[in-house]
Amino acid sequence: MKIAFIGLGNMGGGMAANLVKAGHEVSAFDLSEEALARAKDNGCTPFTDATEVCAGAEAVVTMLPNGAIVKAIYTDSIIGQANDGAILLDCSTIDVATAREVIASAEVAGYDMVDAPVSGGIAAANGGTLTFMVGGTEQAFKRAEPVLSAMGKAVIHAGGAGAGQAAKICNNMLLGIHMIGTCEAFAMAQKLGLDPQTFYDISSVSSGQCWSMTSYCPVPGVGPASPADNGYQGGFATALMLKDLRLAMEAAKTAGVDPQMGQRARQIYEEFAKDNGGLDFSAIINTL
Ligand code: NAD
Repeated sequence: MKIAFIGLGNMGGGMAANLVKAGHEVSAFDLSEEALARAKDNGCTPFTDATEVCAGAEAVVTMLPNGAIVKAIYTDSIIGQANDGAILLDCSTIDVATAREVIASAEVAGYDMVDAPVSGGIAAANGGTLTFMVGGTEQAFKRAEPVLSAMGKAVIHAGGAGAGQAAKICNNMLLGIHMIGTCEAFAMAQKLGLDPQTFYDISSVSSGQCWSMTSYCPVPGVGPASPADNGYQGGFATALMLKDLRLAMEAAKTAGVDPQMGQRARQIYEEFAKDNGGLDFSAIINTL
């Protein structure tokens, strides 16, 4: 299949490489020359223009930083410019409202389009083990699935347009809350005289168990290997967790709900991100 890929950063670079490995013919565009050169090394054909990269493509995949950029690229360079009948897939994490707006414009112009944000970080993007949560019509999902399967281990239809973004931010709001709770529990256990490993041994098989504890423990040397064992480098950057919590709070407002724990998690990460945006989000334990 001929696939155009726009946005070859930390995530998109590995994803485009996996499409090549799966036998697709991938044309690539990014504003960064370095990212384009890396894509070329991985077997993509580089282009220096967002419209030209789409010419002849049967599918267009985007992996971009935010909703404003996604909207601009689709409006200026993809919708009405890509081949009639091309399937459009936006894998970026953006706000639900913009995702719905862009998909509606694409549909008016006759394209099938999905929002398909991912769970899993850079390692999963490189390894082809991402989880995709997909919003769009049944027909758009069916057409998007084979493209996404080449880049991930799970592709789940979440519902209509924007449902992928809704699932992503609700999941990450829960993750942010869980991580802070896990860090507080370890910090308090230690102050009360418990050894962190002993607390882990107990809580990991008790009702406090959660992914932040047993797959991503914020305490160095406890549980399976995690960014805590690597000075909180790599993993999921605090700045990205804050981005997702902000998106979640924006969506909460439009949905007329007021998630108290989500608000508090956003405030805590807002403060922590001022000086620590590049550290893994589990490093929040050092402030508690
Ligand atoms: P990144 O900043 O590394 O990559 C974004 C790329 O888009 C860059 O190479 C940039 O040059 C390019 N770009 C920006 N504007 C452009 C434009 N107008 N035209 C063409 N290219 C343009 O970001 P990333 O970490 O790869 O994240 C991409 C998306 O994936 C974000 O929405 C992010 O929230 C989401 N995400 C990231 C992770 C992660 O762990 N990094 C995990 C899940 C989801």
